[in-house]
Formats: sequence, C-alpha cells, structure tokens
Amino acid sequence: MTTQDQPSQPRETGNEELWHTIFADGHPDLLKQHRLHRLLPHEPRCRMCLVPFKGLGGWWMARRGKAPSSRNPHYCSACDGFLETFPGGAEVEMSLLFVDIRQSTAYARQASPADVQARISAFLDAATEAITDNDGFIMAFYGDCVVAVWPPGFSGPDHADKALAAAQALIRPDLIEGQETAVELGVGLHKAAVYIGTVAAAKGLFRDVSIFGEEVIICARLASLAGPGQVCATPATAARGEAKPEMLKGFDDPVEVITLGG
Ligand SMILES: [Zn+2]
Repeated sequence: MTTQDQPSQPRETGNEELWHTIFADGHPDLLKQHRLHRLLPHEPRCRMCLVPFKGLGGWWMARRGKAPSSRNPHYCSACDGFLETFPGGAEVEMSLLFVDIRQSTAYARQASPADVQARISAFLDAATEAITDNDGFIMAFYGDCVVAVWPPGFSGPDHADKALAAAQALIRPDLIEGQETAVELGVGLHKAAVYIGTVAAAKGLFRDVSIFGEEVIICARLASLAGPGQVCATPATAARGEAKPEMLKGFDDPVEVITLGG
C-alpha cells in the first residue's frame, strides 16, 4: 500500500463547538444546503456543501457565487472561505473507509504510463461515485488510494450502514468499466472516534479537512490486509460475519476483523 498513514500537515485546533456541531450533530444550515444541492445536477460537487460544479446546476450556482474555489477546487468558494475563517476541529465518532487498487505496482510494471493513468482515473471516478452516492465525505486521494468518512452530523445517524453500502459497492466486480484487465480493490472499514479538522495545506496556501489518530492508521492497515475484492471491517461497523483476530502492522495487540467478499 502506497498510502501515507497521516497527512504531513499538523492538525489545527479551535472552533471545537462549531466543528462538533457540523460533524457530530449536524449543522441545520449545512444540512439544508445538502438537501437543496442534491436536487441539482451534477458531479463533481463541493465536498462540504455538495453544490454541483458541472451541468446546469453547476452553471446556475456558479452565477450565485458558488463556483469551485480557485485555491482548492474540491470546495466551493464559500466553503473554502469558511475553512479559512474557522480553522480547527473536534473529536467525533464516525465510520472510516480506505480503498485502494490491489497489485497496482505489478500492473504499472507491464502497462504504459497512459494506461496506468486511465486506470487510476477510472478508479477515482468510480470510487468517488460509490462514496458520494452513499453520503460519504471524500477526505483525500493519495495516489491509488481514496479515504472517506461518514460523520453522523454530515451523513446521518445511519452512517455505519451507509459506509458499509459504499464498501460493498466498491468490491462489486463491475464497478469500474472500460478496463481490459479487472481493477481489483481492497477496502478497510472501521468505526471509531477520530479528530476531524482543518489542515493548512500546500504551505498554508489553502485549507483542507483531514482526520487524525491511531484509529485512522488501523483503517489504513485493514485496507492493506484486504485481498482483491475484499472488505476487512472491525465489528464496530455495520458489517456482520465471523470476526477473527488479525495482527496489523505496527500494532502489538490483535484486532478483531470481519472479512467480506472475495
Ligand atoms: Zn461548498
């Protein structure tokens, strides 16, 4: 797995009550925006308020000042300004998911750079859709890995079920179309309290949202443990099945893991 376990930026603190409201309880203004913006076409969207950036909805909302931020195209200019004005975060229990391409190094050795690029783009598009269709919050892309979270205030009280639905969608063999060789994915699924908050990215040029803590590393390790077409989940998630103790790299005690698929 090529994933870095933690972002290189230090976590920022402050505005704890505000961020706890947004990610644990749900902020009424943001949830109202979600309801409205989901009705408008179409992807990609602002990660925070889900305003569409493309299609008729994107054109219309851009005229109302909700265009992609020039500093960070994952957020609209309003949400980018919000992250800038209210840096900080809070500890919140949520569902976490890491997904990456299996055997990508072996594939990269025998394929052309253009094919590798097309394969990764197809993976990122399909993974983004599976996650956002199930109300997940895309946290980061690291090479051929996608990290997403389902904080209850953002994704709803049934966040664990939604994260599991995304994990199951990600291991469907027909997820990624148009590739000559099947793109096989491994998924790590976990539920735990993590610190979620802003980071000053790209030497402070813009802000992003990230997650921190040992539980994040456990989720990354679960994704590494998963074979092609498998989900490795902890029993705290909505995954059901027989749990077996597994040693995760860097941890002294075994973790109970339920393996789905494959
Ligand atoms: Zn936004």
